[in-house]
This record gives sequence, structure tokens and C-alpha cells, in this order.
Amino acid sequence: MCPTFVEVGEGMTRLVVSLHDVAPPFESQIVQQMEALRRVGMDVVTLMVVPNWEGRHELRSAVSLTNHLREWRRRGCEVALHGYSHRTHGPIRGSLVRQLRGRLFAAHAAEFLTFSGADALTAVDRGRAELEELGLGSIEVFCPPGWLITDEAEDAVAEAGFRGLVGITSLQDLPNRRLVWLGTRGYMGVHPLHQLGASMLTASAPLLLGGSSATSVYLHPDPSGGNGWMAAVRRVGRMVAEGIEPATYRELLEVLSDPAPSAGSAAGDLEP
Ligand SMILES: [Zn+2]
Repeated sequence: MCPTFVEVGEGMTRLVVSLHDVAPPFESQIVQQMEALRRVGMDVVTLMVVPNWEGRHELRSAVSLTNHLREWRRRGCEVALHGYSHRTHGPIRGSLVRQLRGRLFAAHAAEFLTFSGADALTAVDRGRAELEELGLGSIEVFCPPGWLITDEAEDAVAEAGFRGLVGITSLQDLPNRRLVWLGTRGYMGVHPLHQLGASMLTASAPLLLGGSSATSVYLHPDPSGGNGWMAAVRRVGRMVAEGIEPATYRELLEVLSDPAPSAGSAAGDLEP
């Protein structure tokens, strides 16, 4: 099923900041990123959590990181599911374009390009249950590793009852199959080729949009311990200073599911 594409209403300026790869090996960097974001006035952040990083780092065994997550949630942050183990489970499936993107930019991480629909359903059910058992609230938003997912896995995420599916430049309201484009900028924290790939993808977004009034900024940990992500934090600080309102993906979904979108919104059904 193809989603309907919508733009958020004119005059609405929202900013969603997401921290990717929230998992035990990166705890100290995640804490540093959260503190840096708080210093520039960004208290509300979406945490993209991996329940069992690479099958070797279970969040439920990581008491300190879990306590941080509970505290950040109390502050109004959002916890989203970011894959299950964040690694591939066999050959990459899906369309040729997705296979190419998966091989180029997320060769070992494109977990949801390697699952059957049934395996994807099992993985998201299990991941959500593990996060909810840790007291991290009701998990309603899913972001596949590398933002890569096959159609059958996407259907499985919808069937599992998730409300939102995050793409690199989009957010999809799954129950209603509506999709909003987001201007996106971020720090990949990985190989320069990945950064270039993401820049190419995100640079095309404003052209598709004709100007979106919701923007997302994403940060990744830097395994080398560097802080290249500070540039993204400074950009967030400038946006907050300009008066752009921090939001979570769940809040954007509330706007999307509004049966009477504000004047100036536009929708187009891409189905033939
Ligand atoms: Zn990731």
C-alpha cells in the first residue's frame, strides 16, 4: 500500500532531534550528547534505542543506561525502537535501489532489509516488549537501522501496531498510511562516504517539499570518541534561539492524524 504524502500546515515550525544507536557501548557519548543538547536549550529529544546491540549488548543488562533513559523520559523525551540488534541477518532483500543503498551505506546494519515479514514482526514485537518491560513507556515509533526497510518488513511494523515509521527525510503515520516530508540534517558519525550519502539524500528533500516547516536533526555516536556531532548540536542551538519549537515524532503524528489539517496543508495520493 502506498502512503499519501502530506505537508504540515504553514506557519508550523517544529524541530525533532533524534539520537541514534542508543545502546550500552555508546553510553558515555549519548550522555555527552544529551548534556550538550540541554545546554543549547533542547530538552526534548527522541532516543533511538537498540534493545540488543549486535546481539551482544542487551539493554536490560545495562542498569546505568536504563536509569538515564528513564530519567530522560521523565523530562519529556521520547523512546523509539531502532531495530533489534542493528545488524544484518542474511542477504539483503528488497528493491534494487534499496539493496544498493543498503550495501553502500549500511552493509552490516541494514537489519530490516534482511528480515522476512514474519521475522520483522517477531523482532519488533520482542524489541518493544523488552523496552516496555524496562519502564520506558509505550513504544509507538520505529526507525529501522540505516532508515532502510523492505515493504514486507514495513507492513509487519504496521501490523505490530506501531504508529510512526521514521525515514531519513520522512515520518509515516502507519495506521493511516500518511507521510510527511521533513527537512533533515545530521551527523552520521561514521565513514565519510556514509555522510556524503546522507547529505545527498537529505539535500534533495527541500526540493521535493517546496519548504517543509518541520525539521529533524539526527546525531550518531562517534566510536572513535570524537565530537564531530557538536556541529549538529550548534545548529540545533541556533534553531532553538530562532524560536523553533522542539517536538517529538509522536507529537508530529498527532498533527498528522488531525482530521482537519490547518489551512495551507497539501496532500496528494501517490497511488495510480
Ligand atoms: Zn542506527
